[in-house]
Amino acid sequence: MQNIGNLLKGKIAGPETGIEIKKSVCAICDPMTQCGLDLYVKDGQVIKVEGSEENPYSKGSLCSKGAANRQYLYSEERIRTPLKRVGPKGSGTFQPITWAEALDTIGEKLHQAKVETGPESVVFFAGYTKWFRPYLKRLAHSFGSPNYATESSTCYQAMAMAQRLVFGLPGGPDLPNTNCLLVWSSNPFHTNPGVAKAVLRGLKRGMKLIVVDPRQTPTTSRADIHLQLRPGTDGALALSMANVIISEGLYDKDFVANYTYGFEEYRAYIQTFPPARGEELTGVPADKIVAAARMFATVKNACIMPSSAPVVHHTNGLQNYRAVFMLVGLTGNYDVKGGNLVNPPSFVYQAGNFATREHEFEQSRAFSAMAQRIGAEEFPVWMDVADGQAQAMSIPDQIRSGRPYPIRAILAFGMNFRMWPDSLGMRRSLEDLDFLVNVDVFMTETCKYADLVLPACTSMERSELRCYNMGYVLYTQPAIPPLYESRSDADIIYALAERLCPEDALFRAGYEASIDWILEPSGMTTAELKKHPGGMFVPNPRILPERKYETGGFKTPSGKMEFVSTVIARYQERPGFDPLPVYRPSKYSREASPELARKYPLILNTGSRLPMFVHTRTYRLSWPSSLRPNHPSADLNPVDAEALGLRQDDEVRLSTLMGAIRVKVNLTQMVQPGMVCMYHGFGQADVNELFEKDYLDPISGFPGFKSALCSVEKV
Ligand code: SF4
Repeated sequence: MQNIGNLLKGKIAGPETGIEIKKSVCAICDPMTQCGLDLYVKDGQVIKVEGSEENPYSKGSLCSKGAANRQYLYSEERIRTPLKRVGPKGSGTFQPITWAEALDTIGEKLHQAKVETGPESVVFFAGYTKWFRPYLKRLAHSFGSPNYATESSTCYQAMAMAQRLVFGLPGGPDLPNTNCLLVWSSNPFHTNPGVAKAVLRGLKRGMKLIVVDPRQTPTTSRADIHLQLRPGTDGALALSMANVIISEGLYDKDFVANYTYGFEEYRAYIQTFPPARGEELTGVPADKIVAAARMFATVKNACIMPSSAPVVHHTNGLQNYRAVFMLVGLTGNYDVKGGNLVNPPSFVYQAGNFATREHEFEQSRAFSAMAQRIGAEEFPVWMDVADGQAQAMSIPDQIRSGRPYPIRAILAFGMNFRMWPDSLGMRRSLEDLDFLVNVDVFMTETCKYADLVLPACTSMERSELRCYNMGYVLYTQPAIPPLYESRSDADIIYALAERLCPEDALFRAGYEASIDWILEPSGMTTAELKKHPGGMFVPNPRILPERKYETGGFKTPSGKMEFVSTVIARYQERPGFDPLPVYRPSKYSREASPELARKYPLILNTGSRLPMFVHTRTYRLSWPSSLRPNHPSADLNPVDAEALGLRQDDEVRLSTLMGAIRVKVNLTQMVQPGMVCMYHGFGQADVNELFEKDYLDPISGFPGFKSALCSVEKV
């Protein structure tokens, strides 16, 4: 008895204790991580969470957020039933309703909008969560709306666009095989533990590491060369590195001669970026620019690890990133082992080394058979090369103006209005809608403006298909049934499909039948995957050759890697649409707006992640929030603090042209003098309120969250 008592106390699985280990994945941060979970379940309760050793990506580890999965699952703040708003918008006054009433109401309201103002007047929106996106996109298109939009309107997509404009197909860093890794503004030690471990393994075998980052981070501390540039000057740095590489004859002449378009114009342009000018524009010493350029060009093979947001969150972000990615082609590192390899995604952005019909599934109706997408007039290059979404940054304006057509309703999964610049303006636009539905795990601020709120369950309570780039795949099963009346997002989408597009045969066939249809080219089935609850290596993985462009060309209009973009050239009469990767300083910067800089002398850089928080998700959990004082704070260099008469934790007013928020200052050497770094996700001091709604990159539509101007004064 005593022994069993100890086993129970230790939460040891086995027949004696009745504790079972069930396999799942963590989806708190998504989707490039998805660490494996071992969930210890007894009597229908998850009593312990551990990292799954079986998972080849995470190999048993969990970050501080993932370790809090039980708190996430059993949070008191979870939404328990479908809710109907009965008070004014924003009041948070709701009454519970049945699923049948909720689903029927949505069916009726969206049909009404479709009949009165066309299917395009309904937006289907996915927030940060990604696993169900193929089903939501199909729902939008089967309904007849081109307006499937996601949080990728401010994250990832502009980086992918930059690569598509240069190469046609993006290439990812071949971390296990590279001998020189150029990390361009990413800090996986705070965001992606699996990648951080791969970096450490590379360093152990002698890999060179160059890191570009305006801050000091755990990644920069391990670098052979840290290029600590001023925020928003990435393009100038890349062009200056190209100047060194070309003038010293270190570029891949064969690749450039045979596979590129526009090199001579590019070569002429980069002549104006010698290292001394690079230093002037970026703040990086010229000798470091030269050393980094030589290292990247001469250590074979080398690759660039890009980031989803930091480089594209500037008003010049897309052109900057084009200039960065051109370094990969210039040095002959595109689609080669150890370089940036092309391995197309299998499912939800992840390359799993197997073929699927994901795209055919999502795009159940051609864009040519629907109205133009939201953002089509402002962001034509987005429409040409982003991956089939509307540009969500245009949603608030179009709700207000009704042009070129009205937006009446939004069916949202995990929408957070604080994602938008001028976030309060976005909130006001949501109030103008006829009908808003938000599906979420927790009662968020955005939910309070919805007409109906639906409770979603967590990854531990649902089935989902996931894959990993080492050729691993799993189809999870619920470890416990969904708590309360919550449902899986996919179940909600399929229930809505019955009402919104009953003629869609794949929706009628059901969720698992749809996944089997998507998986068909791989030869795998959900029945087979269920036999491997912790996942399995893909049988007969798809091994693609290197240098696929030698036979198939580049997927650009010219068929070559483009130093001069033939896509951007279509719109070159528009300001900022330069076919060359022309460097312009950020719209609000000392160089571009000196008057403003006198009033707001500091560079405002926002949105870096802390290791224990991701967006607004884990602030509510006591374990992660115990790791750092849970109040909004802005990082400031001690040099600036002294000049401003500030001490640690002093309360300050952080101001821009748009207004001010009150935060505490945190003094740290992580930020360089002249710069303020503000973390995002604090509802009580939302830094996104301080950005104008049209402070956007003109080509991608991404907000300039990482370089604006601000002032700080003691309250
Ligand atoms: S990195 Fe952390 S939050 Fe993200 S999936 Fe892994 S354990 Fe979860």
